[in-house]
Amino acid sequence: MEGARIIHVEQRRADLRFPFPAGFSEHVKGCRIEALGRRAKYLLLHLENGRVLVSHLGMSGSFRIEESGSDKLRGDFHYARSKAEKHDHVVFHLARHEGGSARVIYNDPRRFGFMLLLDSADLEAHPLFAGLGVEPTGNALDGALLARLLAGKRAPLKAALMDQRLVAGLGNIYVCEALWRAGLSPRRIAATIATREGKSTGRSERLAGAIRTVIAEAIAAGGSSLKDYVQADGSLGYFQHSFSVYDREGKPCRKEGCSGTIQRFVQGGRSTFYCPICQR
Ligand SMILES: [Zn+2]
Repeated sequence: MEGARIIHVEQRRADLRFPFPAGFSEHVKGCRIEALGRRAKYLLLHLENGRVLVSHLGMSGSFRIEESGSDKLRGDFHYARSKAEKHDHVVFHLARHEGGSARVIYNDPRRFGFMLLLDSADLEAHPLFAGLGVEPTGNALDGALLARLLAGKRAPLKAALMDQRLVAGLGNIYVCEALWRAGLSPRRIAATIATREGKSTGRSERLAGAIRTVIAEAIAAGGSSLKDYVQADGSLGYFQHSFSVYDREGKPCRKEGCSGTIQRFVQGGRSTFYCPICQR
């Protein structure tokens, strides 16, 4: 999509989770897509007219790409995406930068996704974005920043890491995995990874590195899969097989030389998995 021009947009419904903005398809028609981006769970299409098309996939939304003159779906998905036409709600007709055309189709059976148009100058201040913390994939997240963010926080370390106002985009699975990798207990008081003055420690450095590695590996593996998404034949998504601690209750810890057994407990309404021997 980057560099492509939006020839026109078929908007087939008035709403998804929310109504589409007034004049949605007219506002994007004819625009070149200057860049694609992401902030937390929001996908961002930066348009040449200074607007940003903000899209959220909700629970069941997906985009698929179809090139002209070909039935073949672009991209290799582990799970078949819905192609049921009745759930194709938005179709972007694109003229590609390198020539040729393509259709990018937004399909969403449950319609919890949404699309908004914002002026790029207003993006950071918009209520959806204003309170978001630092990205776990950016260079900004390091041991010093984590220490500053968590200094003085009396919440359990796991709860603090899942607070989207501190770090945006970390969920239950990746926090469990990062804490295991860093050898830190999810129950530890968050402030204890920083010095009293909020300075970086070996713990905050280890944790920052673990978060970035876990996220990078998950992206490379194509995301994770949960029990909800087990396929009809019972097979699991591939990233699940590489979880080190998540969903491994009662199994031996995978850390070399550790004799621990993974335990599960409920924390803030979510299952936490950890090794009581090597996570302190
Ligand atoms: Zn262990």
